[in-house]
Amino acid sequence: MDRLRPPRRELEELVPYDAKDIRAEVLLASNENPANLPGELLDKLADRVRDIEFNRYPDPLSGYLRKLIAEANGLEPANVLVGNGGDELILNLLLAWGGPGRTLLDLPPTFSMYGIDAQMTGTHVVQIPRLDDFSVDSDAVLARLAQGDIDIIVISNPNNPTGDVSPETLLIDILNATDALVVVDEAYFEFSRHTMRPHMERHPNLVMLRTFSKAFSLAGLRAGYLLGNEDVIRELTKVRQPYSVNRFTQVTASLVFRERVVFQAGIRDVMRNRDMLLHGLSGMSGITVFPSEANFVLFRLDHASAVWRDLLHDHSILIRDFSRTPGLEDCLRVTVGTEEEVRRFLQAMEEIMASRHASDIFGLSAVAERHQNGGRPADG
Ligand SMILES: *Cc1c(COP(=O)(O)O)cnc(C)c1O
Repeated sequence: MDRLRPPRRELEELVPYDAKDIRAEVLLASNENPANLPGELLDKLADRVRDIEFNRYPDPLSGYLRKLIAEANGLEPANVLVGNGGDELILNLLLAWGGPGRTLLDLPPTFSMYGIDAQMTGTHVVQIPRLDDFSVDSDAVLARLAQGDIDIIVISNPNNPTGDVSPETLLIDILNATDALVVVDEAYFEFSRHTMRPHMERHPNLVMLRTFSKAFSLAGLRAGYLLGNEDVIRELTKVRQPYSVNRFTQVTASLVFRERVVFQAGIRDVMRNRDMLLHGLSGMSGITVFPSEANFVLFRLDHASAVWRDLLHDHSILIRDFSRTPGLEDCLRVTVGTEEEVRRFLQAMEEIMASRHASDIFGLSAVAERHQNGGRPADG
């Protein structure tokens, strides 16, 4: 045959997750920790590697790591599920609570994987857009839940990419309003310190998602976990890939989790640098900055895509352009890096905004000229 039978129809509308591998000197696009693992942990890890039985399949449920996480949260191992990054767990949640004939309540603008995995699993999606300040439209959400047809709702808290936190009272109202699975994505918990953990015993439909990718410098490793009722965890073990969390990941994530106090200073640095970033950006005219309880900051300005390009081409700084995402028109998101990276970013923004301001004064032709010259000012 010289033809290819098409895949499932759902894939037609799907665009692969934006995994563009753009090179730059300063990487502030993916909310990673700006520092690799501390040297002392790398040394300990190097010692452990020799003892790993790479020839043997890993423990499917990451028993040791699971026990560590359970103890730290005052729970039993049966309340914990470790995954190949939080992303794998989001897919597992939609495989088990979504699927054909079932419905996800999504609250955009938010983390795009919820919607992508819903489409991938044939889950119907109902969207209730956030309000202008990005807070959850609580009246609309509670009214929709009261209809009784929602199977799963995911709330990113703090919300990526907007940075805001939903009031705990709203999350409790949601838990009281529905028997749907309520997933609170706490990927930025180590920065915000907000968690719904205290409400787990009263609400069997509550699940929390955490990750090693942000505060714990392990985005390249792929490890995340869920905390939830053991009935929920048991259902998820039916849909998960048995060996998705490999031996190396289990050893590394266990070491990092056991020694997680060493990350506290770095987390404090990120918070301090975030304040510097918020302060610096809000001092620039023409920029609206949104408050953040995570390790990134969203801001809005005219010609956002052009500014994004200037940052990359003229300053080798990569941030994330959300200006084509509904509800995030003219918005860019920058991750909080090291103090030096934040200074470099703010300096670059000052220059870009000043030259744009000059272009505006001299009329639009100056802007057009800049673009024709690959983003650099025209000679003469
Ligand atoms: C980063 C992130 C995750 C999970 O990331 P992994 O690297 O797959 O663990 C989950 N939810 C949100 C909102 C995130 O920002």
